[in-house]
Amino acid sequence: MSELPTVVIVGRPNVGKSTLLNRIYGKREAIVEERPGVTRDRKQVDAEWQGIKFRLVDTGGWLAGGSALDKKVSKQSEKAMTEADVILFVVDATVGVTDEDSQMVRKIRSAEAPVILVANKVDAEAHENSIWDLYSLGLGDPYPSSAMHGRGVGDLLDEITSHFPNQAFEEESEEERIFSIAIAGRPNVGKSTLFNQLIGEERSVVHDMAGTTRDTVDTIVTTRIGDVKFLDTAGMRRTSRIDEDTEYYSMLRALKSIDGADVALLVIDSTEGVTNQDQRLAERIDAAGCPIVVVLNKMDLLSTEEKEILNHQVERKLNFLPDVPVHRTSAVSGKGVDKLLPSLSFALDAYTTRIPTRKVTDIIRRAQQAQPAPAGARVMYATQGATDPPTFTLFSNRSIPDHYLRYLERELREKCDLGSTPVKLRVRRRNE
Ligand code: GDP
Ligand code: GDP
Repeated sequence: MSELPTVVIVGRPNVGKSTLLNRIYGKREAIVEERPGVTRDRKQVDAEWQGIKFRLVDTGGWLAGGSALDKKVSKQSEKAMTEADVILFVVDATVGVTDEDSQMVRKIRSAEAPVILVANKVDAEAHENSIWDLYSLGLGDPYPSSAMHGRGVGDLLDEITSHFPNQAFEEESEEERIFSIAIAGRPNVGKSTLFNQLIGEERSVVHDMAGTTRDTVDTIVTTRIGDVKFLDTAGMRRTSRIDEDTEYYSMLRALKSIDGADVALLVIDSTEGVTNQDQRLAERIDAAGCPIVVVLNKMDLLSTEEKEILNHQVERKLNFLPDVPVHRTSAVSGKGVDKLLPSLSFALDAYTTRIPTRKVTDIIRRAQQAQPAPAGARVMYATQGATDPPTFTLFSNRSIPDHYLRYLERELREKCDLGSTPVKLRVRRRNE
């Protein structure tokens, strides 16, 4: 049994922590289920929201300095925070930000877990104006709620559970997720030769299995980056080459396998340079949200001069793929092929990465400080909602112009080492 995700509630005394715990737990009465070793300073219960179970810990009060009891309580809070998966920092919106709140924020920031700012005692919509002051805490968007009446607590629970490690994803990675690789490219660029080099190079255990689309066969290969699945390899194995490839069918097949791929090797014939078809294929792969590793094959046939020309051409014609890795190979001799798997592995890491909300919000905040959006538009809070590919949700006060979104995307890509993996941004507007 794995441990439940732990949500820790911190905040000054009287802001409504214990009321909130009871509200979430679903009881107005005092907590009955107390765990062994839990003092009155620290209550914990197992709660559930939309089928997701988690542990909820109320840290009691937290006072800066003060009496021996205050100190003990503060220590408890700090310890609890180090064990948290999510921290709820509760403030009393009717009071606004106090010095104690600000002091706590400093401590909270040093904890690893994402922090959700709860603006409590917002019992009616009319009180929501009081939350703007809370942005000064630098913890992003406050969640207005009323622990007493239950207002906003559903939204808050959605937000809390969205920060838990994605369970389906975790299960998959526990039993070693097998990544799918598509080898895409026009006919005769050297896909089969490259594939055979790749699997020969690895001296790997290879087995075939029925592919996801009709008439296709995929090949699972044990490699130094783990088991990987090469998609639609029927025609590629040395012995069983079926040469019915026309340009059209080849494109069609390539597009099908791209849909199921986690990453694509785009193979280009260096002797022909980057053709329109290559560009179109690259665009389609990118649009499918699949990271690309470019392979310029048949390099052995190029003179030094031709290599120079090709370099310029790649820069010019593939510049719509930001930071895409470009490899140069000779599939017949195997030269350069050993670099491909590590590069694929790097691309897959970026594709499946999960960035903590606090880091995302921080990157966006800094980017906006360096260069604010036009016309008073502002992203208040940002979170990564999904992986494969990394997908970010930005909460903004009004619509954000496209060029500014591209700027934010570049910042995220750079600061999170996302390499060339496609990144999706979604903007949600919050009513002011
Ligand atoms: P704690 O010390 O942070 O655990 O705070 P409590 O949960 O004991 O609440 C302190 C006081 O604030 C109690 O009198 C609660 O009834 C009141 N309170 C808690 N939540 C709310 C709320 O959402 N609205 C209002 N109006 N009062 C609240
Ligand atoms: P596919 O249609 O993309 O699978 O291409 P193949 O792997 O069947 O290769 C087409 C032709 O190009 C074959 O004659 C290969 O021997 C040749 N070829 C593939 N890679 C290279 C290479 O790196 N250098 C040279 N000189 N020829 C290559």
